[in-house]
Amino acid sequence: MASQTVTLDVRNPRTGQADHTISVSSRDEVAAKAARLRENQRVWEAMGVAERCGIMARWLGEVKKSAMAIGEADAVDTGGCHTSYIQGFITMGNIGGWLEDAPKAFADLEWQGMSSSMPTVEVESQVVAYPVTGVISPWNAPLMLALLDAIPALFAGSAVLLKPSEVTPRVIEALFETVRAVPELAAVFDYVTGPGDVGQAVIAQSDTICFTGSVPTGRKVAVACAERLIPCNLELGGKDPCIVTASADLERAATAVLRGAVYATGQVCYSIERVYVQEEVHDEFVALLAEKAQEVRLNSDNPRAGHIGPFTFAPQAEIVQRHIADAVAKGATVVTGGEVEDIAGGLYLRPTVLTGVTHEMEIMQDETFGPCIPVMSYGDEEEAIRLANDTHFGLTASVIAGSAEEAKAIGKRINAGGIFLQDTFLTFAKLRTFGSDSFGWSGYGAPRIGPESLRRFLRRKSLLTQTGPVADIRNDHHLGEGK
Ligand code: NAD
Repeated sequence: MASQTVTLDVRNPRTGQADHTISVSSRDEVAAKAARLRENQRVWEAMGVAERCGIMARWLGEVKKSAMAIGEADAVDTGGCHTSYIQGFITMGNIGGWLEDAPKAFADLEWQGMSSSMPTVEVESQVVAYPVTGVISPWNAPLMLALLDAIPALFAGSAVLLKPSEVTPRVIEALFETVRAVPELAAVFDYVTGPGDVGQAVIAQSDTICFTGSVPTGRKVAVACAERLIPCNLELGGKDPCIVTASADLERAATAVLRGAVYATGQVCYSIERVYVQEEVHDEFVALLAEKAQEVRLNSDNPRAGHIGPFTFAPQAEIVQRHIADAVAKGATVVTGGEVEDIAGGLYLRPTVLTGVTHEMEIMQDETFGPCIPVMSYGDEEEAIRLANDTHFGLTASVIAGSAEEAKAIGKRINAGGIFLQDTFLTFAKLRTFGSDSFGWSGYGAPRIGPESLRRFLRRKSLLTQTGPVADIRNDHHLGEGK
């Protein structure tokens, strides 16, 4: 008897209605797709980086033709806002950047010469790709985070099996229209759909894993990879702090903090989630921040207008409301915002500024992932640094001070991979230059940006050729006999 297809309804974040359905890939389907990719990967890797670049350039052309449609699909998946409509163009930038960078990155990785320890031995150091890279991605920035690892993996010569979030599948469907238009790419790039157990099935079939998502799921992924003894790269959450010193330009600081905290409804891994302000300027800063926060408009009337959209994932609204309630119950004050609103089925929260917060509150400890800005005052610089470092996480941090030098001196002492000085949200400045590591619970693995990120998909192999006489064990003085 043929097995029945299991389906999953997908909610629309603007209406609250389930208006889309996906089928859940069975373990057999995942295995069959992985086997097809594994078979085709041999040709993909053997063709070399120059030929792969030609194919990826054709894909870039297809993405360009569909960039608007991809943006529309992203907007339906996530609830819209200006960030959605640029996703197709961000993908083009990602592919285009690797088209320029991959050939040189590869050339720098390979080496041939004579051994320095055994001068008659010639060494050829080669890199070979992991055959199948499994990518498991989240519902926030669903296209960008599905591709940030997949694109360099493909350039490296790996085949990619993607398991996108079941919460935001529409944009991936639009993307794969472009992949199918390039048959050589479709041969090595495929996706499967469904919830967490489909992610586990991908791990069971892959040679290396790139996971982006929450800390609890990241732990499960790490355990499953450890059982199979395959490497994994984990990009997890954050609880990113911003320090504002007494000497800072407070207008600038309030503007930068607001954007860094509420952009994309705060559903960004490197959103500002905690703000520490020197006590002398605390009240003035909070007044400026609240005034600016009240000017932020929802996009409930028109997805293309307004500054922030609804929560993409309904349970996230409950988590955020719970963090606010916990803070208030423990003595915090809501200065502005604070209540999730149901507007025509979409769940919205206006930028929410809280004061009187402490590190005993969930909102200062756990990832909130919403447009909340808890502000705490500090006395001296040592206290600010201690508070910023009082976290399990370490993704990014920001410092806004009277001068760049003052900000840098503080930033150097914060335990996080990306430190933004005199502004917030500077992650994109790292693209194509150098990435950064994640500290603590924010993840592990090599940086996913810049030349080092390609290396994650490659294993080094050494070919050692003896060009001189071979050693004779009967005459081998190293063994010590006769000494
Ligand atoms: P999530 O952990 O719930 O899910 C992520 C993906 O894992 C989804 O595709 C999901 O289906 C899959 N999954 C769930 N259970 C699984 C299991 N047991 N085995 C394998 N796969 C499983 O995360 P989310 O809620 O979709 O995304 C939001 C989280 O992602 C936030 O914590 C955010 O901070 C984090 N994030 C991190 C970064 C980063 O670069 N550090 C970037 C964006 C988002």
